[in-house]
Amino acid sequence: MCGLEWGRLYEEYHTKAYNPAKVSAEVKKLYGDPYVKNRKGIFEYILGGSRDTKLLDVRVFDDATKKSVYASQTKQAEAKNKSNCLLCAVGHDANRSKIWKLAEMDADHVSAWSKGGGTNIENCQMLCKTHNRAKGNR
Ligand SMILES: [Zn+2]
Repeated sequence: MCGLEWGRLYEEYHTKAYNPAKVSAEVKKLYGDPYVKNRKGIFEYILGGSRDTKLLDVRVFDDATKKSVYASQTKQAEAKNKSNCLLCAVGHDANRSKIWKLAEMDADHVSAWSKGGGTNIENCQMLCKTHNRAKGNR
């Protein structure tokens, strides 16, 4: 717990009421979670309502997984003449049939990590960077 900006955290969150037992259980759970890379962010993440997963720097999919998902998504997309970004493909603008390069896409958890979704290939989908950002870092 060293190095936290307690002053700022206090200013920002002291007006809300928290259940200490619940917070403590949540902290423990996240400390034990191998996907959480930034443990200093755990407290603020919880105080902020467990929404901003950026604070935790959740471990992302590795390159092999991304490449493999990208390859299969792109193959399917090309066969249907649709975008390889699943959200572009259902859109109505020029991007609906755009094939993005791997570097233009980011991996996304199909089922949200914060709701228990795993960081494994079955739970990985590639979205263009714009859509991935729009969806938020869940
Ligand atoms: Zn897209």
